[in-house]
Amino acid sequence: MKFDLEAYLTFSSNIVNIRKDVDEVIQNINKKIFNDKKKIDKWDVDKNLLHLHIFSTLSSSRPHSLLLQIKNMLSRELGRKHHIGVREIGIKKYRIDFELEKKPLKKVSIPFADVRIDGKLVTMYIHDVDEDFVRKNYIDRMINLVREKVEQQYYEGKTEFWRLIWRSEEKKPVWSKDPTEEMIRLGWLKQGPTKGKWFYGPKAAALLRAMEMIALNEVLHPLGFQEVVSSHIVPFDIWLKTGHLEGMPGEFYYVAEPCSRDVEKWQRFIDLTKITKEVPMEELKNNLSIPSAGICYAQCPVIYWFFKGRTIAEKSLPVLVYDRTAISNRYESGGRHGIERVDEFHRIEPVYIGTKEQLLDLRDKLIERYKHVFNNILDLEWRMAWVTPWYMQQAGKNMEKQEEEQETGTIDFEAYLPYRGDRDKSEWLEFQNLSIIGDKYVKAFNIKTQKKELWSGCSGIGLERWTAVFLAQKGLKPEYWPDGFKKYLEKLPRDIKFL
Ligand code: ATP
Ligand code: ZN
Ligand code: MG
Repeated sequence: MKFDLEAYLTFSSNIVNIRKDVDEVIQNINKKIFNDKKKIDKWDVDKNLLHLHIFSTLSSSRPHSLLLQIKNMLSRELGRKHHIGVREIGIKKYRIDFELEKKPLKKVSIPFADVRIDGKLVTMYIHDVDEDFVRKNYIDRMINLVREKVEQQYYEGKTEFWRLIWRSEEKKPVWSKDPTEEMIRLGWLKQGPTKGKWFYGPKAAALLRAMEMIALNEVLHPLGFQEVVSSHIVPFDIWLKTGHLEGMPGEFYYVAEPCSRDVEKWQRFIDLTKITKEVPMEELKNNLSIPSAGICYAQCPVIYWFFKGRTIAEKSLPVLVYDRTAISNRYESGGRHGIERVDEFHRIEPVYIGTKEQLLDLRDKLIERYKHVFNNILDLEWRMAWVTPWYMQQAGKNMEKQEEEQETGTIDFEAYLPYRGDRDKSEWLEFQNLSIIGDKYVKAFNIKTQKKELWSGCSGIGLERWTAVFLAQKGLKPEYWPDGFKKYLEKLPRDIKFL
């Protein structure tokens, strides 16, 4: 790497008269902490400004970080002798040259810099940025972002990583209709008042709740999971920590708070509504704040927040909790779907925090319980596969290696949907997953225990998906349902008749 930095330091008063001392301090800095591969090679004084030129070919000592060190040393030395301090530092011009592992496939651009790429060589130009910019470490992240974007270009073209772990025997479906369409026809279900939401009548609701009871009684409670009740609304700082905010900003439902609850402030809105009998959108805009939170996307981020900064006693490990209260909302967009892909869904999310050994052991136990449910209770045709979700798709991640180790990663549970056609050609539906994440989230939320290293993970039990898969294979008639399931739902509640 090559760094070429023009920076300035603003002093609390004129330094022209003490130029000799300034020179001495800089020469000292060059001698003591810098060397041939990095140094302040030019500098000049102008009233209370000191202009510096720093050059470095060491990727380990980047001039923008050295700048803060220089500021401290100058402040200390000149402060002691002349009571003059450095007010602020800034960058006038900065050129950074570095090499990529692969040639980009298309143009790369990032905020705050002009990026030019020739083959594998990147030149990044930054102009006029202040101390805050330097201090908050934007520059290192900008370099990483260029690398990441190029890696991403290679990743995009590839099909997602998928490797079969286990597959059930083939099972003869009782029908091949789309259960959502049939349920709508029978009046069990209705498209919700807004896109991607559903209203579940008594029969459909009973099905979802039966699935919920099965997950609780057959999987979570036997393994010792305890219920927690989480909040639906997730402030952005939580998603910043988990990476969701940069991962899927286009999939959230954002939450806007009113600017005020004062009726006075809402008076015009109320009057306009009374007169027009329409929603006064312009007036509404004036009364809302910009969102600073979103509705639950998955429950785990807020569960991690609960443990944030805490030290968990060893005797409480592994922590096994689940939430079934917060409803997940995702802007799925892209046309209408049945209950298998909705914008608002009901999910139970178990989260586990423990040592690596505890979590690998728990994964086996969870899989065993899930197998019991899908084989003995729901009697499904299904399979399990290793996949890599977005939060593990780090640039340059070596998939081969992950295959051997199989310690962290996500397992998708997928089922055959007869209404989609041939079992070998059609797309199966992911109806739940199970992840061991490693230390990424416990680190992000600073969750600790005495001595040992912690890992965490979660599993997403989608009740709509369990229901969709079960009905697609077993139909809507209870007499064809497996006995294991009938123990949870022997007969469906009576219909509401419409005339
Ligand atoms: P997909 O690839 O199908 O969009 P995903 O990878 O986004 O799923 P995860 O974020 O891994 O899903 O969520 C875990 C579980 O949540 C899924 O296995 C599924 O049971 C459920 N789920 C996710 N998205 C939806 C949705 N739009 N409708 C219903 N259930 C969903
Ligand atoms: Zn999760
Ligand atoms: Mg999705």
